Amino acid sequence: MSSLAGKQGLIVGVANKRSISWAIAQAAAAAGARLALTYPSARLEENVRELAGKLEHPLVLPCDVASDDQVAALGQALDEEFGGLDFLVHGAAFAPAEALSNPFVETSRESFRVALDISAYSLIGLTRAVAPLMTRRGGGSILTLTYIGSQRVFTNYNVMGVAKAALESTVRYLAADLGPQNIRVNAISAGAIKTLAAAGISGFSSILQVYRDRAPLRRGVDQSEVADTAAFLLGPGGRGITGEIIMVDAGYHIVGI
Ligand code: NAD
Repeated sequence: MSSLAGKQGLIVGVANKRSISWAIAQAAAAAGARLALTYPSARLEENVRELAGKLEHPLVLPCDVASDDQVAALGQALDEEFGGLDFLVHGAAFAPAEALSNPFVETSRESFRVALDISAYSLIGLTRAVAPLMTRRGGGSILTLTYIGSQRVFTNYNVMGVAKAALESTVRYLAADLGPQNIRVNAISAGAIKTLAAAGISGFSSILQVYRDRAPLRRGVDQSEVADTAAFLLGPGGRGITGEIIMVDAGYHIVGI
């Protein structure tokens, strides 16, 4: 039997075929899960519906994670359509473009607010909306995506690094809160991968080259490698793991000079 057979999951963060969340959706579907995907705006709806068409019995729902009302409506729609939820993948992140190219010291209050709201707070809001659906199924697994820019300085990652630090701390606090309900909360810290979000970071291609030159595996990682680890964490193999940040980065994080 596949490891996610009979499971129902929500995936937030599919924008196009390069999205890490789309690779996770494919891996979860291949492992037997039924999925709901979301789109944040009318502009992305068609993309998401087209990709969802490759899945069996997908549910496609709107959700701008900056809106409490939309997050609550998402929880309600899942309650009606699925009746319960086994996992959530949170792959939403955003920072205003100028905050990813200007000197960090120029970060505006508004850019800081938006980046932290969409990239970190949204994990709390979404978790609150789906936790009752998971409790009904005897527990669940929540997974978010982070980057090592939370711990170390990467040129132009700027306020997104601050948001990822908040996100990683959020993972630990949520894990402690929800552990008694058998809900696990983890993050994968992925190596740099060329996606829509990554394209927003000035000089991103030179970061990719650093991975090829310096990571122990002498290469970067791709979406499918992150997705395989995700399927493990979402499924029974990850049942003893919570509050963890797992590095899937070809070993880049261990390297000093
Ligand atoms: P992506 O652009 O495909 O995904 C980002 C997603 O965030 C998009 O689907 C976008 O629609 C969604 N989003 C933005 N604002 C939103 C909002 N208000 N409401 C709902 N959704 C919203 O890029 P990706 O690289 O696949 O990013 C997925 C996650 O992986 C992000 O958290 C990113 O920081 C993280 N990550 C990416 C890399 C990388 O190098 N690409 C490395 C480590 C971590």
